Amino acid sequence: MNIILLGPPGAGKGTQAQRLVEKFGMRQLSTGDMLRAAVKAGTPVGLQAKAVMERGELVSDEIVSALIGEELDAMGPDTGAIFDGYPRTAAQVESLDKLLADRGRTLDHVIELEVDEDALVERICGRFTCANCGKGYHDKFEQPKQPGVCDKCGSTEFKRRPDDNEETVRTRMAEYRAKTAPILPIYDARGIVTRVNGMADIDHVTAAIERTMAG
Ligand code: ADP
Ligand code: ADP
Ligand code: ZN
Repeated sequence: MNIILLGPPGAGKGTQAQRLVEKFGMRQLSTGDMLRAAVKAGTPVGLQAKAVMERGELVSDEIVSALIGEELDAMGPDTGAIFDGYPRTAAQVESLDKLLADRGRTLDHVIELEVDEDALVERICGRFTCANCGKGYHDKFEQPKQPGVCDKCGSTEFKRRPDDNEETVRTRMAEYRAKTAPILPIYDARGIVTRVNGMADIDHVTAAIERTMAG
């Protein structure tokens, strides 16, 4: 199964993708994570993407689609893909169609996480992740069970993203509205979009996604 999680920054895409990975052995393909890894490693892609990401603007379609193609090629043909933060433009929708078709994959579901914009700034400004395993947390909504210790791997080091500040979030939300929201009608026309209430508890959102995948 191949699915897209769609929604504005802070909607819960990464949180839900991590859960589906653990439960179903699917693979999370997050272009944001791939780009951050490239920035950290100082690759040519990373050097090009760094400033764009710091401003909260979108990295070029060519760069992100190439990253997705490489990840798909590194996966077993029977492993399901969860696209998290990709596609984000109409051009990326086209590229993804081709990347999937070339590999004999089909797109099963596009799950739109519907959220109130007012909640997003609080979600994003409270977000942090385990520096070792990448598990996501929130200052208020998803704290580690034991304070300062990662539930999943026991690490005591955590990190925050440089672009998770209020000013950049506004730009990212504007980019979402202008370039990403318009791709929904493309998938709607194919009859594969399910809308899920992203304002519900994390567990409830997971349950709604699982119902979609089962149905
Ligand atoms: P995205 O990948 O869509 O940008 P994340 O999954 O990283 O969003 O979630 C953003 C922040 O909000 C994280 O700190 C996460 O723990 C928290 N979060 C995610 N889903 C929910 C939810 N349903 N209710 C409350 N907080 C949530
Ligand atoms: P969020 O979880 O808040 O939605 P991401 O981690 O997905 O954020 O993305 C962080 C940044 O990486 C974006 O603001 C953008 O600069 C870049 N980026 C990630 N995915 C894409 C994409 N598919 N197309 C263009 N830029 C992207
Ligand atoms: Zn961890």
